Amino acid sequence: MTTTRITTRVFRGTPRNLARLARVLQRGGLVGVPTETVYGLAADAGNARACRAIFRAKGRPASDPLIVHIHDWGQLESIAEPNAAAAMLAAAFWPGPLTLVLPKKSVIPPEVTAGLPSVAIRMPGHPLFRKLLKRCGRPLAAPSANPFGYVSPTTAAHVLSGLRGKIGAILDGGPAQIGLESTIVDVRDPARPRLLRPGAISRKQLERVLRCPVLTAAPGGGDRQRAQLAPGMLKRHYSPRTPVILHERIARTDFAHGAPDEAWLLMRQPRQVALPHVSWLDPQGELRGVARRLFGRLRELDAAGYRCIHVELARGGGLAEAINDRLRRAAARA
Ligand code: AMP
Ligand code: MG
Repeated sequence: MTTTRITTRVFRGTPRNLARLARVLQRGGLVGVPTETVYGLAADAGNARACRAIFRAKGRPASDPLIVHIHDWGQLESIAEPNAAAAMLAAAFWPGPLTLVLPKKSVIPPEVTAGLPSVAIRMPGHPLFRKLLKRCGRPLAAPSANPFGYVSPTTAAHVLSGLRGKIGAILDGGPAQIGLESTIVDVRDPARPRLLRPGAISRKQLERVLRCPVLTAAPGGGDRQRAQLAPGMLKRHYSPRTPVILHERIARTDFAHGAPDEAWLLMRQPRQVALPHVSWLDPQGELRGVARRLFGRLRELDAAGYRCIHVELARGGGLAEAINDRLRRAAARA
C-alpha cells in the first residue's frame, strides 16, 4: 500500500482542460467530476486497475459496487443487457438523476460491480460532465467523491477537503443542483422493479412510467443477497462525525432555550429567531432547496464543533423520502 501524497489541482471547464482531463481518464487516471446529484470520483469503467484506485482513494470496501456513467444509449448497450423497462425509464428521465441496475456484459470488470452479475448505470445531466464523457468516448465508473461513509460532496471544495493528496484532478462544475445521490432502481426483472435508493426521481414518477408498483428493497433484515446487491443501503452512511439527533418536528420551545453547544437544523426559517446555534435549510421549507443545501450544511455544522446536531425530518412524499433516507443514515450510530 502506497502512502505517496500527490498534488491535487482544481480545473475549470475550459475546452483545453476538458481535453486534458479526458486524456487523464483514458490513461487510467482518476478525476473528481461534477454531476447534478453529487460530485463523483471517475475512472475508465473498463480499466480494472483504474477502478481499484477509486476504492483506494476513498477507503471504500471492495464489496461496494460503483455506478457506471454513460454518455448515450449506445454505451449502455455495450456494457449491459437492457430491457423494455430500462428503455422506458431512460426515455423519461435520462439524462438525469436515475440509476438503473441491469445484467452486465463482460467488458465491465468484476471490480466495478463488486463481483455482482449486475451493473448500475446512469446517464448524468450535468453539461460539463456530459462533455467530458463525450470526449473520453467510454463509460466512466464513479462513486461519490468522498472518503467512504462521510457526507457526499456537493462542491469542488468538498471534494478537495476529503481527497486532497489522494487524487490529481478535480473538475469544478459549480455546486450540485440536486444535492442528493441518484435514485437507484433494479429493473433486471422488468415486471418487478425495486427501489434500492430513493432520490430526486420519486417512486411515484417511476410507477407512472412503468405502470406497475415499484417495491422498496428494505435495508438490513438479514437478507444477505440484498446486502450484497446494494451496499449503499448500509444503515450508517453519509454521516457527519458529530452525533445527529432526528426529530419529527422541532418547536420553538425546543431550540429557544437550548444549550449553545447543540446545533438545531430546521427545514424552514422560523419567525423572529436570531440564535447562532439555530439554522434552516430553505427559507420556505421548499424541498428542492432543502435537498440542495443539506450535505453542505451538515458539513459546516460538523466542522463547527457542536456536541450534537438536532435535525428536523422533512414532511411529505417525493423528495422528502430521499431527504429522510439520508438523514436516517446520517443519524445511525452503527
Ligand atoms: P455511491 O456512488 O457512492 O452513491 O455508491 C453507488 C451505489 O450504487 C452503491 O453503494 C450501491 O448501492 C449501488 N450499486 C452500484 N452497483 C450496483 C449493482 N450492481 N447492484 C445494485 N446496486 C448497485
Ligand atoms: Mg457514496
